[in-house]
Amino acid sequence: MKIIAYGNPILRKQSSEIKEIDGEIRRLVGDMKETMKAAGGVGLAAPQVAVSKMLFVVDWSLLENEEIREEGIVAYINPVIHSVSEKNIVDLEGCLSIPEVAAEVMRPDRIEMSYQDLNGGEVELELTGYPARVVQHEYDHLQGILFIDRLAQSERAKIRDKLKDILAGRVKPFDGTQPVKGTSTEPVTYKRPAVF
Ligand SMILES: [Zn+2]
Repeated sequence: MKIIAYGNPILRKQSSEIKEIDGEIRRLVGDMKETMKAAGGVGLAAPQVAVSKMLFVVDWSLLENEEIREEGIVAYINPVIHSVSEKNIVDLEGCLSIPEVAAEVMRPDRIEMSYQDLNGGEVELELTGYPARVVQHEYDHLQGILFIDRLAQSERAKIRDKLKDILAGRVKPFDGTQPVKGTSTEPVTYKRPAVF
């Protein structure tokens, strides 16, 4: 699938709830997983492939040193973040829809969430640290929020020219025509800032 870029109005829409996890949704999840891998992302939200539905996928296997990496690739359907910690932490983020841009974002350190799995089962989850950050970034996509909206003034000033390049089409996100990373024999190595 083609990943849409910053500036596309679809990235600013509120996503709608998925009423039924049918064949169409399963196909979409499969296509999104493939696209995420090919683009070298840790996560991918449906709006990033121009689908305004409450769904994102995360490839936890790319997060070295995190226990959750054993979960592999997980699809999160109709996710809800119920509560966040008062403690905030700052770390670098990037986004597949905002290529070649990285900035420091402050976010709550811990979240409690629920979501539906591909079988429609309700799952409760608590995440801390970088995994909590990945999920918050993806969750924001479902509400039409981008990580650049959460930057301090000084961080925002640093990336202004890069954003202009994306809006002008000089820098483009993964569109399916670039070489597919997942098919090479080389492992896709994760290095911060991760993009999701
Ligand atoms: Zn993103």
